[in-house]
Amino acid sequence: MTLTGQCRCAALRYTVEPAGKPRVYACHCLNCQRWSGSAFGLHMLLSETAMSITGALAEYRHEHAGLQSRQYLCAQCHTRIFNTTDAAPGMRVLRAGTLDEAAALAPVAHIWTRRKHAWLEVPPDVPSWPESPSPEAFASAVMGR
Ligand SMILES: [Zn+2]
Ligand SMILES: [Zn+2]
Repeated sequence: MTLTGQCRCAALRYTVEPAGKPRVYACHCLNCQRWSGSAFGLHMLLSETAMSITGALAEYRHEHAGLQSRQYLCAQCHTRIFNTTDAAPGMRVLRAGTLDEAAALAPVAHIWTRRKHAWLEVPPDVPSWPESPSPEAFASAVMGR
């Protein structure tokens, strides 16, 4: 299944081909709230080979918890599109709200609900964790493994 997306100004467009059915998850951590300027971040975990991009990217590198994190933005309007981290080599974390089909993708998991805004209710049948789940639990929930 091929999905498409773009930044706010449309100078950058991309396609992704997730392995299996597309799965997005919500992260309610403080960093995601600040990055997004919203109540949570909406992410899709992808292999770097599953994504192709047209348009120029700007890069912002920083260190997080001792690991190198790279954030990639549209070079023109600075919409953040995805990031990589040394913690997950070969993977990209797509900002799923930039997908054209985003509204049709309900999160399959909620993480860092300890920081969740009180007004927002996670459906009881959707897995959630107060902080980061174990890598195994995370893979099972967001990768369908
Ligand atoms: Zn743009
Ligand atoms: Zn987060």
